[in-house]
Amino acid sequence: MSGPWRPSPADLARPEVRALPRYSPEGGLCAVDVSDNTNLWGAPPAALRALQETPGGALARYPTLYSEPLRTRIVRYLELPSETGVVLGCGSDDVIDSAMRAFGQPGDRVAFAAPTFSMIPTFARLNALEPVAVPYAEGFTLDVERLVERGAKVTYLCTPNNPTATLLSRAAVEYVAEHARGIVLLDEAYAEFAPETFADIAVRFDRVLLLRTFSKAFGLAGLRVGYAVGSPALCGLVERARGPYKVNALAERAVSAALEEGEEGVQWVRAHAALAVETRARLAEALTARGWAPLPSGANFLCVPVRDAAAVAAALRTRGVLVRALGGLDRSLECFARSDGGALRIGVGPWPMMHRLLEALDGLFAEQRP
Ligand SMILES: *Cc1c(COP(=O)(O)O)cnc(C)c1O
Repeated sequence: MSGPWRPSPADLARPEVRALPRYSPEGGLCAVDVSDNTNLWGAPPAALRALQETPGGALARYPTLYSEPLRTRIVRYLELPSETGVVLGCGSDDVIDSAMRAFGQPGDRVAFAAPTFSMIPTFARLNALEPVAVPYAEGFTLDVERLVERGAKVTYLCTPNNPTATLLSRAAVEYVAEHARGIVLLDEAYAEFAPETFADIAVRFDRVLLLRTFSKAFGLAGLRVGYAVGSPALCGLVERARGPYKVNALAERAVSAALEEGEEGVQWVRAHAALAVETRARLAEALTARGWAPLPSGANFLCVPVRDAAAVAAALRTRGVLVRALGGLDRSLECFARSDGGALRIGVGPWPMMHRLLEALDGLFAEQRP
């Protein structure tokens, strides 16, 4: 039976793929799950109704090729000129991945300010690109000249930044837009919770793609829809690398309904984003009163430098509360030097959830103050 030697499937896999661990954050069911920055108040009622009212026939057909009907609604939602380009995807993750594939040749660089969204180095490697991290400077300001000097094919900026929740200045974003040699991905996944948006920059600079998602403020993470806006040429290239039919028919209907003006659509989203911002301030205050020092946040989560973050998160889990533990953060920043590179990322949600989180922390640190 034994034929000539043949490599095993593992030997046949691309080395980048073989080396990549599965994405598997610590998890499991927890009574209070504030670990992934989704909308803990739920989803807009208009979207839920659209799902319930979808006729079975709609599922037997393919969705639109490139979600054309959603584009006008998105451009209107962002208050951008009607000719602005839009590209959608299976989550903004898919748009990021497609953009790297569209522009990156194997070996090209993907530069980003670190720490940032953990999928960036992953998508870079999967596309045979070299991730190049440029550490944030004190106060989470960005050394824009250093970033631009990397000469990257793709430069990624995230504001408000995941996982630190901190904001970039308009001047920093504009500098990168003006001086980057390659394209610039400007990720505003949390824009609805932030004091300002840089959407206008994506309209003014033809190499800037502004990334947004329906997974956070819009409460539709389970449907997997994200998008980018920018010049029609740039968006068209990303779309080619992406391929057709990436947004399914149910998602298209729900997102379309969520973008409708009205109390059950966009107004619901705005009202709950405002509630998240209010609750964020209240939670930050409660944590500060207990001796913690959450970083200033422009998002729907707080980043709290904590020593032994993994152990603290594990102990919280036994008390029914799931937060995200971060480790190995840049100790050249004072806040992370003090926490030995550790932090907790805590999503903001309805106050009863926040109350249970605080109770769990209080129980844990009853004897030992941070
Ligand atoms: C959550 C998140 C996304 C993406 O989400 P999708 O669910 O793939 O749309 C993108 N960027 C950042 C920074 C995020 O935190």
